[in-house]
Amino acid sequence: MDKKTVEYARHLDEKDVLAHLREEFYLLEDKIYMDGNSLGLLSKRSEKVLLDLLHSWKSLGIDGWTEGRHPWFYLSESVGEKMAPLVGGQSNEVIATGSTTTNLHQLVATFYQPSGERTKILADELNFPSDIYALQSQLKLKGYDPEEHLVRVKSRDGRFLKEADIVDAMTDEVALIVLPSVLYRSGQVLDMAYLTQEAKKRGIPIGFDLCHSIGAIEHRLHEQDVDFAFWCTYKYLNGGPGSVGGLFVHEKHHGVLPGITGWFGSDKAVQFDMSHTMTPAQDASAFQIGTPHVLSLAPVIGALELFEEATIQRIREKSLRLTEYFLTLIDVELKGYGFTIGNPMDETRGGHILLEHQEAARICKALKAEGVIPDFRAPNGVRLAPVALYNTFEDVWKTVQILKQIVDEKRYERFENKRGVVA
Ligand SMILES: *Cc1c(COP(=O)(O)O)cnc(C)c1O
Repeated sequence: MDKKTVEYARHLDEKDVLAHLREEFYLLEDKIYMDGNSLGLLSKRSEKVLLDLLHSWKSLGIDGWTEGRHPWFYLSESVGEKMAPLVGGQSNEVIATGSTTTNLHQLVATFYQPSGERTKILADELNFPSDIYALQSQLKLKGYDPEEHLVRVKSRDGRFLKEADIVDAMTDEVALIVLPSVLYRSGQVLDMAYLTQEAKKRGIPIGFDLCHSIGAIEHRLHEQDVDFAFWCTYKYLNGGPGSVGGLFVHEKHHGVLPGITGWFGSDKAVQFDMSHTMTPAQDASAFQIGTPHVLSLAPVIGALELFEEATIQRIREKSLRLTEYFLTLIDVELKGYGFTIGNPMDETRGGHILLEHQEAARICKALKAEGVIPDFRAPNGVRLAPVALYNTFEDVWKTVQILKQIVDEKRYERFENKRGVVA
């Protein structure tokens, strides 16, 4: 069958073992959603659990903390347990709490212990801004100048990082390493096993930001001996805008006092003794700070059911096939149109692809006007994420056809080449 045809795309959809899960989501009417790596779509399960929790508040009041289908007091732990398989953590190593950035603050406050010559934090120049801001402020809090003490490994081409360059930067002056698992622009998957092993050899604690990988690729944090990790749940996990994030702390660190403490990090059995001496929980639970955002946790519960049914292995398999198909069609249909592929072509690519183009900002606007939801990343990137749980091969086919028309007919010229407030 000719791979360029829509029939071929439909044939791939017919063979897709995860195809039925699309029905679980509220798809946007007449749109092709390619932005699940920024904000995943609402599922019917998420909606249901959110309504369940509203109901427990409505019908139980304060007793909702310990009664009802999802007692609030234990929710962060139970959601953590459900997320654990997605990161390859044990159930006691994962907790649902905070946001990506607040969790990073917590983990740096805990694991960054400068002493003697070891005072620097190692990150990379392609990292997400919020992570960099957090690291800068943590350095300042400890009295260090971020200009000097935050080391950012350089990218050789502005897209990718070389693991060897990162390892070269793991010097005797480094007290902590924080890296992304998947780069948010290019989608490059870093070799976490290798980086962790090299950090171990040098006695440097290492942690990863999983925002762009959780729910898209498999992880083995415990086995790989990663010290800590943190993530959001609103991207591939479909937990909803501002849904509660998560963190992982390896079992070997359990029992240390968190850098930032609050009463929800207490051992639950004594939390309500109201003592002024904290008895921290003896697992990842200790890294919580205050009262959980119960209503923002609710949709995550429903969303995770779908991951359990689909399994992350099958999700990754389909995701790789979707992006491979995307890249094949781009190669065939968009040659000579001024696009450069900015993601890795091999299996070190994550769940999204990156198309670079001089007119990227207005191409994104034109795509939106034509019913395709991409996202733009300055200065010249069109990110497109075909999500295994709800996108089809036909979505990919249509997106490429629309892109072709937009550039062929210069439809983007109707728009300004400038990004919106939320790009
Ligand atoms: C999405 C994302 C964030 C967002 O942080 P929040 O605290 O959830 O707003 C941070 N880091 C990376 C790498 C991200 O992809």
